[in-house]
Amino acid sequence: MRLLDLLRKSTESLEAAGIEDALPDAEMIVLHALGMERLDAYVNNPEMRKADAAKIKRLIQRRRKGEPVQYLTGIVAFLGLTVQVGKGVLIPRPETELLVEEVIKTIKSEELGARSQDKPAGAASCDSRLTPYASLSVLDLCTGSGCIALALAKEFPDADVYGTDVSKEALAYARKNAKINSIQNATFLEGSLFVPVNDRKFNIITANPPYIRRDELDTLQREIRDWEPLDALDGGEDGMDFYRQILSSAGEYLGPGGCIFLELGFDQAGFVQKLAQEQGFRDVAIINDYAGIGRILEARKEKFPSNKPN
Ligand code: GLN
Repeated sequence: MRLLDLLRKSTESLEAAGIEDALPDAEMIVLHALGMERLDAYVNNPEMRKADAAKIKRLIQRRRKGEPVQYLTGIVAFLGLTVQVGKGVLIPRPETELLVEEVIKTIKSEELGARSQDKPAGAASCDSRLTPYASLSVLDLCTGSGCIALALAKEFPDADVYGTDVSKEALAYARKNAKINSIQNATFLEGSLFVPVNDRKFNIITANPPYIRRDELDTLQREIRDWEPLDALDGGEDGMDFYRQILSSAGEYLGPGGCIFLELGFDQAGFVQKLAQEQGFRDVAIINDYAGIGRILEARKEKFPSNKPN
């Protein structure tokens, strides 16, 4: 059988199992299994070796049962990084790329890390480095695959980037992802939220925390519900547990003028904005995603410390 016949059969098999994006999914599986480029596959349409055809058939069977295509290929592209994923780690989403882009924009527009007078006491000491972002320190909470931390570490190679997560499995992926992308300025630590960073201070804190309301978990697409780690999705009764915890402590871990960026669920912007204001954050802003949904919260700790507790 030739490649394009196998692709057609695989697509039909996925369609019959009710998979929505049958053709693109089948294509991704076939090309991944063969290690082939799309154009090459369509132009040359080679005869399939038995072993390759059998491998593709096994992957298609797994996709028929709802396993996300990204777990089958094991990789996701995220802002120019190759991110390895598999069972036990949340698959990076395009909305999260938006969060990283907003962080980069903010840092570049303010040269946040460059101004030594803004350097928080206790921040990683990088005085001997001469590059503009040398004093920048970043903390990514609930880091999962490490996609946010690694994309920022790549953009700012002289920054010190930390990622924390409670999941050993996720951290193993994050560390592997640092290695395969040759990123050396990201450190991944195990533990809940801020616990593993002790009394370090940061210029930037980011998080894409679990934010799905518990009673909504059952209604998610089966690819998510049955395959992705529940701990990375479950935001508690109202979906807001992590925002409350993060925003009540973030002030202690940010240097003066430091910023926090949080990814939000589709209907959470108003509530989280209010939480941030109640915690004394300034310049609280919501950034919409491409679908017009308030998706990212950006907020700033005040520049000049007052006598108010954080
Ligand atoms: N964006 C994910 C989803 O749609 C949820 C990720 C999260 O809870 N942080 O399922």
